[in-house]
Amino acid sequence: MSELLSRTHAVALDAADPLRALRNEFVFPQHNHRDQTYFVGNSLGLQPRGARAAVQEVMDKWASLAVEGHFTGDTQWLHYHRLVSEQLARVVGALPSEVVAMNTLSVNLHLMMVSFYRPTAERPVILMEAGAFPTDRHAVDSQIRFHGFNPDTDLIEVQPDEPNGTISLQAIERAITEHGPRLALVLWPGVQYRSGQVFDLDAITRMARLQGARVGFDLAHSVGNVPLQLHDIAPDFAVWCHYKYLNAGPGAVAGCFVHERHHRDATLPRFAGWWGHEEATRFKMAPQFVPAVGAEGWQLSNPPVLGLAPLRAALDVVDKAGGIDALRTKSLRLTGMLDALVRARLSGVLEVLTPSEPERRGCQLSLRVAGGRERGRSLFEYLQTVGVLGDWREPDVIRISPTPLYNRYLDLHHFVEEVEAWAGL
Ligand SMILES: *Cc1c(COP(=O)(O)O)cnc(C)c1O
Repeated sequence: MSELLSRTHAVALDAADPLRALRNEFVFPQHNHRDQTYFVGNSLGLQPRGARAAVQEVMDKWASLAVEGHFTGDTQWLHYHRLVSEQLARVVGALPSEVVAMNTLSVNLHLMMVSFYRPTAERPVILMEAGAFPTDRHAVDSQIRFHGFNPDTDLIEVQPDEPNGTISLQAIERAITEHGPRLALVLWPGVQYRSGQVFDLDAITRMARLQGARVGFDLAHSVGNVPLQLHDIAPDFAVWCHYKYLNAGPGAVAGCFVHERHHRDATLPRFAGWWGHEEATRFKMAPQFVPAVGAEGWQLSNPPVLGLAPLRAALDVVDKAGGIDALRTKSLRLTGMLDALVRARLSGVLEVLTPSEPERRGCQLSLRVAGGRERGRSLFEYLQTVGVLGDWREPDVIRISPTPLYNRYLDLHHFVEEVEAWAGL
């Protein structure tokens, strides 16, 4: 065991890593003229080198062609959103027609709830996790009120039932069964942002649909992190952002999935815009809305081309890696090694809150600092001064997310050695 946790072994793993060249595809913030040890891909992924060229291509076309850019070349703006559909579909395990890059996550969540949260007096309830990311909580609360219902009775939050604040599948099943006949929508994350817990989306979808409820997922922390099979699992919808594990840049255009079974349903209410109109007749500019078939039918505006450009570069890097399964293979090893190193060498300093079963976690480990908030802040700030970047969650947790695209096994040793130095071990 100790041999497997040695620095020498980490160096050997890096040398043999089939993904090691991908690190050169990213731009690293510098610390004392060296690359930062960056573990914050769960918050904002690093810049892919190709992103600048992708943005520049749009700027150049705008300068040289202006309005003609809409209709010129392979990257014509009229269809720009479609340039990412096939790659995105592979990342989330969907048909290209089931995904669209548009808006931002919170906007897409509202648009999806307009179509898939249709409360009635008998079935007004949305079921979600307690401690959800605030935007999800606000969106759900405001949607319930918007329909004239009452979050005090019609929002059910499933409490963590496991020691480190994670939620068992049994607890989710109990809640879905208990509230079944009153459930309009089950909204669940793929990966819990605070604990790093990965949920069994297949099981949750089956339980919810068995009760006659709609199912939607927030995959902000899942996309680019763990493999997904959205088409087969068949929730009604899913939403996500692209700036975390997919590296498409700050405020990047987000993603949205609508399952194929809804693509031709004209009875679904939706908030419509001209870009969701079927393309063949869109420019007749008629007053009647005829939705495009597929997720594209939920678009509102013409594609935000400058915002989409870095996403193209980001998805190209995933393809270079050989897809999401190749990333997951390395990720399991990286995060597994970090977990083992923390338990072996930092047991009195850091406690792993994220589930230890590999299938119940992705890249991220949430680490509680022993001794409370002051001590936690002190460690977090020390790490920053030595160029090791994680992120801080109140009151005493540091999230460390090694990502297979640009982190090395040696980075894990750097982290552990610096924590040891800080703790005087
Ligand atoms: C990051 C994140 C968001 C962010 O929402 P934006 O609309 O992109 O600002 C929403 N939900 C979850 C679960 C997240 O992790």
